[in-house]
Amino acid sequence: MEKTKTNTIRIKTTKKEELIDITDDLKKFAERVENGSVLFVYTPHTTAGITINESAGIEQDVIEALSKIVPEQNEYKHNKIDNNAAAHIKSSLIGCSKIIPIKNRKLELGTWQRVFFCEFDGPREREIILMLL
Ligand code: ZN
Repeated sequence: MEKTKTNTIRIKTTKKEELIDITDDLKKFAERVENGSVLFVYTPHTTAGITINESAGIEQDVIEALSKIVPEQNEYKHNKIDNNAAAHIKSSLIGCSKIIPIKNRKLELGTWQRVFFCEFDGPREREIILMLL
C-alpha cells in the first residue's frame, strides 16, 4: 500500500504571538520515505510563518525582535481593513515555507535545529501542509 505523500497538521494557537515546535510531527512524517527526498513544509496563512532555529528561549527572542522591527501600530494601509498589518509584515519577513532534506528516513536537521510554526495573529486554528517531494 502506498503511503500518502501529503499530510495536514491542524493546530490551535493560544496566544497572539507564539512559536510552536512542530519538529516531532515532521520527523514522524519523514520516517515514511526513501532516501533522496525532501520535506516541504508550508502554512497557507498570511499572518503566520515557518522558521528553523534553536529552542531554549529563542522563540520569545524572535517574537520580541520582530516587534521592534515591525511596530504594532503605524500608518499601515491594511489597518483600515482589519487592523493586523504588523502580523502580515512579520509573516512576510519569516516566510510561509521551508524545505528540509531527508536522509535515511530522517530529517537532516542540525543538532540544535528545530522547526517552528510562527503565529503572529492568534489565537486561531491553523494548518500546516507537509509534502514529500
Ligand atoms: Zn489582515
